[in-house]
Amino acid sequence: MTAAIRPEAHGASLWHAVSRNRRDRPALHDEINVDLAIVGGGFAGLSTALHAAGKGLSVTVLEAEIIAWGATGRNAGFVVPNFAKMDPDSILAHLGPERGERLIDFAAASADLVFSLIKGHGIDCDAVQNGWIQPAHSPAAFEKVKSRASQWAQRGRPTVVLDRQEIEVLTGIRGYAGGWMDRSGGVLNPVAYAHGLADAAEKAGAKIFERTPVTSVDRVADGWKLKTPSGSVRAGKVLIATNAYGGSLNPMLQRTYIPLKVFQIATEPLPREIRTRLLPGGQGAGDTRRNLFTFRFDADNRLISGGMHILSAGADTRVPQTIWRRLTRHLDLPDLPPLAYGWSGMAAVEPDFLPHLLDLGPGLIAGRACNGRGIAMTTAMGKALADWAAGTEARDLPLPFAPPAPIPFHALLRHAPNALLGWSMLRDRLDETA
Ligand SMILES: Cc1cc2nc3c(=O)[nH]c(=O)nc-3n(C[C@H](O)[C@H](O)[C@H](O)COP(=O)(O)OP(=O)(O)OC[C@H]3O[C@@H](n4cnc5c(N)ncnc54)[C@H](O)[C@@H]3O)c2cc1C
Repeated sequence: MTAAIRPEAHGASLWHAVSRNRRDRPALHDEINVDLAIVGGGFAGLSTALHAAGKGLSVTVLEAEIIAWGATGRNAGFVVPNFAKMDPDSILAHLGPERGERLIDFAAASADLVFSLIKGHGIDCDAVQNGWIQPAHSPAAFEKVKSRASQWAQRGRPTVVLDRQEIEVLTGIRGYAGGWMDRSGGVLNPVAYAHGLADAAEKAGAKIFERTPVTSVDRVADGWKLKTPSGSVRAGKVLIATNAYGGSLNPMLQRTYIPLKVFQIATEPLPREIRTRLLPGGQGAGDTRRNLFTFRFDADNRLISGGMHILSAGADTRVPQTIWRRLTRHLDLPDLPPLAYGWSGMAAVEPDFLPHLLDLGPGLIAGRACNGRGIAMTTAMGKALADWAAGTEARDLPLPFAPPAPIPFHALLRHAPNALLGWSMLRDRLDETA
């Protein structure tokens, strides 16, 4: 059975609806001078603001809409300290030993950073650091994740390989070939986490403005001038942290990543008894399918899952129902409560699925660490970018730093993930029956 999504909830994320620490912030109606101006109030902008203000810099965040308006307020809340496609060995081959090792260390520590910020600043965001599980949908995928777990374990990460039965006990799902878990991962409420970061940044001295779109960023003698509809900011350094929501601010940037529309749903709360079977340890799970299957519970026992569309026409109403039906099938839950929230968000995916800093001029950087794994990665990127704001050369940070490189045939390639989804689903099925 499926029910209509609550009309007032359609399009709004569960997290915006339930977060207790949300509050409004003013728009900028002034002309101000700061050391660091940040465009975008998502995890990337807020973590940078918190860490830079903590170093004694004057910092402002300018957000076009409200805090966590972008992917930050629309994601699934999995805290994942690794990359979607690349593992340590392939990162070393891709970036070379020196840069590779730095990026691996950066990623490895990223989930611990998130949970230590939450603890240190007393952020009330239903955070659970009990592990992130990746079940393998086929024997071949199990071999891959065994190698993945061992490569991260060699870097001192608390990983564990799980056989078929252990995966069944941890997730409540039969049929996976096995899997692995990084115990430093976990789940949280992303909007509450973002507001906690914003509160902490303000306590450290940062100024945050909402409903303040930056309309231009221009070079001036002593740095940069950012214009907004009713104010302006002069800054020595500027971070563009607009991820896949940058619009017309820098059209060239829009051609340097693949924008991916991802849908999420939350059901009405489930009875507590169900937790003795499904994810009794409170972890989050995202499997190895190309058409990724993810699931977790929130603090009120709603089930949360996600998915993508092949055809965009009608997708906003059709895809949430498809995801709901997939949940009932995979979790073997014929009495799954109806859908309560359905929403979507845009993720920026890099050609190599790794975080990147883009050199836009002296003292002007765009930072993107999304790739669908941005909670841990953008938080960690913010800490690194605060070092840059305080004087470290960008090339000495742990993330790749280079001028932006537009993707050839971008207008065509940006549709590839959706166009290829049907083929990916077929390959997933063939893997499972192999
Ligand atoms: C549906 C979905 C599910 C996901 N699930 C997960 C998950 O479970 N775990 C995980 O780790 N990652 C997940 N991700 C990825 C993660 O959400 C992102 O990587 C992360 O939120 C990116 O943060 P950000 O600060 O870089 O960008 P965003 O959160 O997108 O913020 C960009 C901000 O810039 C603002 N902005 C844009 N232009 C301007 C302007 N001109 N002036 C001022 N402000 C501007 C926007 O309004 C927006 O608020 C998911 C992403 C999506 C879309």
